[in-house]
Amino acid sequence: MTVPSLTLNDGHSIPQLGFGVFLVPPDETAETVTSALEIGYRHIDTAQMYGNEKGVGEALAASGIERDDLFITTKLGNPNHKPDDVRRTFDQSLTDLGLDHVDLFLIHWPLPTQYDGDFVSTWKAMTELTSDGRAKSVGVSNFEPDHLAKIIDESGVLPAVNQIEVHPQFANTAARTAGLDRGILTEAWSPIGRGAVLDDPTIGEIATRLGKTPAQVTLRWHIERGDIIFPKSMHVSRMQENFEIFDFSLTPDDVNAISALDRGDEGRIGPDPKVFDRI
Ligand code: NDP
Repeated sequence: MTVPSLTLNDGHSIPQLGFGVFLVPPDETAETVTSALEIGYRHIDTAQMYGNEKGVGEALAASGIERDDLFITTKLGNPNHKPDDVRRTFDQSLTDLGLDHVDLFLIHWPLPTQYDGDFVSTWKAMTELTSDGRAKSVGVSNFEPDHLAKIIDESGVLPAVNQIEVHPQFANTAARTAGLDRGILTEAWSPIGRGAVLDDPTIGEIATRLGKTPAQVTLRWHIERGDIIFPKSMHVSRMQENFEIFDFSLTPDDVNAISALDRGDEGRIGPDPKVFDRI
């Protein structure tokens, strides 16, 4: 399988399919990521708050894969929004990952009710990390339209991506469209809704017709819409299944039928970024 790449608004490219490691226990991360790399994943999505950057780094070092063939993302922890902490903890992430640069560094949550509502200075400190190439690209996660507008207006710098919750039951249209309208690609987190969408009869019918699994059909739906995804699994057979989504396609009718499953805010499985404040 060849994973397609998309071009970010800063000119760098990103593999459209990666592997996410949220909730992968630190002591099982190296083995899990090694399996993912063996299957062919080259894009890994981790975060300071996942506590498993060291395990990701171990797997990368042991793999012998050329650095240029990998795309590694990490994210700023919620306790680290002050500019000095951005710089300090970014250095620590590089050390833990065993890398001299990451491909993408994201603000994990906007935390609009924390830090006196100031996520702009956090963003400005993030953008400085690209000047010496230690972060090739910088972006945000869980940003609502007004959060995006504020950092862009006050810094003049576009985030490369906005990583937000998106799956068939939660289209998150306002946040997704606010980014896409400005050339900011969407990274869709929890792309199979942590399994919640897999029993849906519409997805099941399409999967049966195509001889694919509901997870493959759902992941392919994201690909057809041009979003970036990194499903997580601790099972090698599922990692393999989730990787095999480039030998078939969905018709526009299939894409529309899956998009119609959107339940608005009721479909959300994660916290609402407008009020999420956990540091
Ligand atoms: P996913 O939608 O990727 O679902 C993961 C769950 O689905 C796991 O329980 C996994 O179980 C199960 N699963 C995976 N593949 C299959 C399959 N083929 N068939 C049946 N079940 C399957 O949810 P995540 O929340 O993990 O999201 C993916 C990634 O997105 C995260 O790992 C992280 O990188 C990122 N993320 C970012 C957030 C943010 O705030 N920026 C928030 C949440 C996620 P098992 O492991 O047992 O196989």
